Amino acid sequence: MSLFSAIELAPRDPILGLNEAFNADPRTDKVNLGVGVYFNEAGKIPLMKAVATAEQLHQQAQAARGYLPIEGVPSYSSAVQKQLFGADSGLLAKGLVVTAQSIGGTGALKLGADFIRTLDSSGVVAISNPSWENHRALFTAAGYQVQDYRYYDPASHGLDLAGMLADLEALPERSVLVLHACCHNPTGVDLTPADWAQVIALVERKQHIAFLDIAYQGFGDGIEEDAVAVRMFADSGLNFFVSSSFSKSFSFYGERVGALSVVSSSAQEAERVLSQVKRVIRTNYSNPPTHGATIVSTVLNTPELNAMWQQELAEMRNRIKSMRELMVQQLKDKGARQDFSFVTGQCGMFSYSGLSADQVERLRAEFGIYAVSTGRICVAALNLNNINAVTDAIVAVSG
Ligand code: PMP
Repeated sequence: MSLFSAIELAPRDPILGLNEAFNADPRTDKVNLGVGVYFNEAGKIPLMKAVATAEQLHQQAQAARGYLPIEGVPSYSSAVQKQLFGADSGLLAKGLVVTAQSIGGTGALKLGADFIRTLDSSGVVAISNPSWENHRALFTAAGYQVQDYRYYDPASHGLDLAGMLADLEALPERSVLVLHACCHNPTGVDLTPADWAQVIALVERKQHIAFLDIAYQGFGDGIEEDAVAVRMFADSGLNFFVSSSFSKSFSFYGERVGALSVVSSSAQEAERVLSQVKRVIRTNYSNPPTHGATIVSTVLNTPELNAMWQQELAEMRNRIKSMRELMVQQLKDKGARQDFSFVTGQCGMFSYSGLSADQVERLRAEFGIYAVSTGRICVAALNLNNINAVTDAIVAVSG
């Protein structure tokens, strides 16, 4: 008998399944709004000029590929810290923050999850309803009990702050809260600084463990602006965790470049924390890969390349914003029966469009337009060539 005869087929990732269906669709005018990546105006994943330039420099340098330190490229970690906490952060000056390079933002979440498991926590993790679908799976696999907190209010297309606060309040003390620091995936709905202040006060009172997930810094209002939640937590004096990623902001998905940062109360504590995070890394994959983080470090630490990257990122951000505006305008002009004006107020790559599962299915079947059944669309997949067809189709199904 085979060792694997009783093994069941694991469920397919719903979004990857959507991509497979899209690829198999023979229609030439099909549009994939189900993806979680930024496409440029030509409908392609860009290779950023700042990245290409840094890669050329590295190729010329012909560097050997020795092992990195367990926590990764040191100049990368310090650049990550400055981007998250601000170049003039008092926490950084005092040595309260430690950062480990990770295998994308996902790897940072897993490192944090494994480390927090060794602390005195309730064992409960709370994630927003809805959230990036891997949050639940990742924390469940790491041995946590995962619960939802209210977040999105379908009636207002905005935040259910009262519901969120009530649910965070009802959790056992010392629960882990996964908080999207900006550009919430999948809704595009973020907290205001005043909302964050209320969350921070609650976290402090309930001794919760905040785990800020920031995968889209620079896709909302700007690199500094999008760090507001991180900066407010930093000012609060709390201990907290941040998982960050350059997958989107460097258009660097396959290079798997992320970081886990942990804020401690003293430099001595920070050193002990880092030693434990290193133990998690060592026993999982020993040390991280060299290429991606070296390139990100070169770009962030070289003033001309950094300026070039910021400019390119601003173009991406502005293109998404202009697609939001054009979409809302076209839907209005074409007489859509639903109100879509809220789409311009959402942040980042995604929009919870308000389309129902039935409408999403009609978009696919009748028009070859693919979206997630929850109504999530990737605004960054719209461009001047496909937006007309998309808004025509939405008008057709919204009647
Ligand atoms: N957190 C959120 C909210 C995300 O949307 C994503 C990626 N889609 C990640 C984390 C993981 O990022 P990465 O691809 O760098 O692992």
